[in-house]
Amino acid sequence: MTTRYYLWTVGCQMNRADSEKLAAGFDRLGLKATDRIERADVVVLNTCSVRQHAEDRAYSKLGRIRDLKKERPHLKVALMGCMVGLKTDELERRFPQVDAFARPQQFGPIMELVEGPAEDLGGEFWPTTYAVPEGPTSFVPVVHGCNKFCTYCIVPYRRGREKSRPMDEIVREVAYLTAHGVREVTLLGQTVEAYGHDLDDQPDLGDLMRELSSLERLERIRFLTSYPRDMTGRILEAIAALPKVMECFSLPVQAASDAVLESMRRGYTKAEYVAKVAEVRALMPAAGITTDIIVGYPGETGADFQETRELLEALRFDKVHVAAYSPRPGTIAWRKMEDDVPADVKSERLHRVEEIEGRISQEINERYVGTTQQILVEGVRGTQPFGRTRTGKLVHLDVPARIGSLVDVRIEHAGPFSLRGTPVDALVTV
Ligand code: SAM
Ligand code: SF4
Repeated sequence: MTTRYYLWTVGCQMNRADSEKLAAGFDRLGLKATDRIERADVVVLNTCSVRQHAEDRAYSKLGRIRDLKKERPHLKVALMGCMVGLKTDELERRFPQVDAFARPQQFGPIMELVEGPAEDLGGEFWPTTYAVPEGPTSFVPVVHGCNKFCTYCIVPYRRGREKSRPMDEIVREVAYLTAHGVREVTLLGQTVEAYGHDLDDQPDLGDLMRELSSLERLERIRFLTSYPRDMTGRILEAIAALPKVMECFSLPVQAASDAVLESMRRGYTKAEYVAKVAEVRALMPAAGITTDIIVGYPGETGADFQETRELLEALRFDKVHVAAYSPRPGTIAWRKMEDDVPADVKSERLHRVEEIEGRISQEINERYVGTTQQILVEGVRGTQPFGRTRTGKLVHLDVPARIGSLVDVRIEHAGPFSLRGTPVDALVTV
């Protein structure tokens, strides 16, 4: 009888990449995916702990699984991702319905649970297993973990220290992906510019991008997430000089007041952050830049928040991911600081940021109308093909286009979240 697996994933692109890899490992063993948990023999929850809300979603799944397991005792359950730390005894006590626990990028315990062969238990980075691409874009983790220990953040405790994958291993993986239809890769790291500093010959992200650029079938290279202090002038110059690297930055600032930045231990001042954005724009004037903001961090005053608003107005980001501060057990902020900004104030600040970002995104997007942009066609929603510009803007096309093709598109309409346009070729022939 076929063994069916249900794989549930929340959180960042790293988790998505891990799940795709795990699915490839399962498929190789002959397991079949199902999107109905009640039909599964194996359930894997790939979890996120960055905010309480994400954990709550996993708790609710775990409740459902506890009931399911009463009816189906043979069900095998694994909990994976950032909810799993070094020690699992507390989790084992709370969730007896779980049979295996695996930290991010730790595939071994899950492969053991499904009785995979001993020589295929994952291992560090599991270089023998590549995700099966589902379209022309793919995520490729290049550096795992984080050393920065921002006071509010759980990531270093759950993902461990920064650890780069060897360059030749990444090049092999991307070559495999391009041989299977991938045209664009997104290089992933919690602080992606930290890539390479722990490797013997200390290559940097620019060196890796240069190597990958030589792969003929690869058309575009993206990278996430940037950490201002790791983003050196050398890396920026490589990004600007390499035609396959997209002018698309995710550069979280988190807050603008120097007092809050220092308390967060972000490692830069507002002026240094502003200078970094200026450096990017001097080299790549059209660059798309998105950011992350936390509102209601402990001690954030109205005046501190005003600085955040002013920064958003001054730097005009393409998109702002905003979250209310959520205390994470075990972090420095959780241990040492009182969560003293009331929920209604957090929510009010969150909405203020959303208002600013909605207006500015719309204004920026309108400037695209009438321009021609290169789009990689990623897929079709309903009958409409869609893809992204080199600056990361989502574009819907008016006419059919081949998935995986690079097309020049004339932008005709702009909304706050996406653009719409027609391929130039179609305009000529109409
Ligand atoms: N490494 C990136 C950086 O340096 O900003 C971001 C990685 S973090 C996992 C993703 C985002 O989650 C952060 O940029 C931050 O805005 C948000 N985040 C992290 N911890 C949070 C917390 N305790 N409460 C609210 N948001 C949080
Ligand atoms: Fe978390 Fe800071 Fe590391 Fe980003 S840099 S993952 S916010 S500790």
